Formats: sequence, structure tokens, C-alpha cells
Amino acid sequence: MQTTVNSPDMDLASLPLRKQLTVASHILFVAGQNDINNGQVSARFGRADRFWVKAPALGFDEVTENSFLELAVDGGTIFRGAGHRPPEWPIHSRVYRSRPDINAIVHTHAFHATVFSATGMPLLPISHDGCLFHKRVNIFSATTNTILDIETGDRVAAALADNFAVILKNHGIVTVGRNIKEATVLALLLERACAVQLAIPSGASIDASPDDDVAQKNQFIFSDAAIATYWDYYRRRLSRASMATQLPEARPF
Ligand SMILES: [Zn+2]
Repeated sequence: MQTTVNSPDMDLASLPLRKQLTVASHILFVAGQNDINNGQVSARFGRADRFWVKAPALGFDEVTENSFLELAVDGGTIFRGAGHRPPEWPIHSRVYRSRPDINAIVHTHAFHATVFSATGMPLLPISHDGCLFHKRVNIFSATTNTILDIETGDRVAAALADNFAVILKNHGIVTVGRNIKEATVLALLLERACAVQLAIPSGASIDASPDDDVAQKNQFIFSDAAIATYWDYYRRRLSRASMATQLPEARPF
């Protein structure tokens, strides 16, 4: 089942991408989306038929620029990087295959999103974050197990559809983006939107944002320019956390 090592060499051309994936991993850790050593970030750049993905059995906090493997979108053959590919590589493989418009994927076992997935509720525009995902995130429920094969990966891609996020029932989240910044920030926003909705007392009526406000918020609060500033904020927060926790400090890329 597992494809083993080919070559540990990493070319310099891919270094900026791997640095950015490293920063994304550390941001996810600082934001609390670590689940022991589970979850992956991935990205592709320069060619549509390959992607770089985090190696298995590493916490997001342990990732370095050498923690990634380059895989074929079709079939998962390892081209570069040492070790095994992550068991959930089919998520990345099949989503990249079905979505030529995206270049980055985040999969985490985000705590609040996982709890939220068990409620059966739709995600409502209660907070600003909720507006971003209102009517634009499905719950994948074909299995609650780890995504281990291509067929199940295809079903995750189908549940994602043309959205930028999907919640995996009793499991976690998958967010995608045109770049690493977008996929990472969306993972943080989705987790917060779920946490906000879970905080509503049981039985309370919910007065969510009206559709007009949802549209306006999505244009302004979650514009591409705004998303870039959120990434910059999280990078600064990462730098402060790195000093306090001995995380590998975020470096310029
Ligand atoms: Zn998983």
C-alpha cells in the first residue's frame, strides 16, 4: 500500500514552496489545529500533475522544510523526499485532480469543526467567519474513517464540489485555496465559525446575518486583500509564539 523512498534530494526551486508550507504548518499548530501527528498541508506550483505534501507522523509543530514529499497527482508516486507518503494522500490527490483552480490543501482534525460535524446543523452566518461558509460548505458523511483510498478521496472531492471547504463528519476539515495562504486562513476561519455556533446555548433561537449582509461581508471582510492581511497577522503571531515556545521561527520566504 505504501510507496517507499526514492530520493531524499530536494531541489532549490521548490524551497520557497516548502518554506511557505512550513510556515502554514506552524501557524496551524499555534492556532490549535494540531491533533498529535495527524493532518497535512500540501501545495503545487509550476506543474499541475505533482504536489508537495507533509510527511506522515509529524506534528505540525515539528515540520521543517525537509518534511515534505513530492507526489504525482495521479497514483501518488513519490518523486522527491524521504520516507512514506501520508496515509491520507488520496484526499490531496483526488482534490487536485478535480479542482484545477486550486493549488493548496489543508486537512486538519480541527477540534470545534469535528464536534460541529456531529450535530447535523448547517453552518450559519452567526459570526463574520460563518458568512464566508454559509451555504458554501458541505458535510462529508460517506465515512467517518480516515481517507485511505482513491475512491473515498473522490467522494471527498465530490462533497467539496466547487466550494473552498468541506467538513468531514466525526473527522475534521479540508480547506483549499488558490495558494497556501488562502487554504490556511480558511482552515482557521472555518474552525472559528464552528466554535461560535457551538457556543450558542442549547434551545436558543438563532438570529443570524441576513443574506444582504452576508454578501457584503464576503466582499469586504474576506476579500483577497483581506485574506492576505490575515495571513500576515498569523505570521507575526507565529513569530511571537516561536520566541516563547521554541518553535522553529518563521523565516522570510
Ligand atoms: Zn484525517
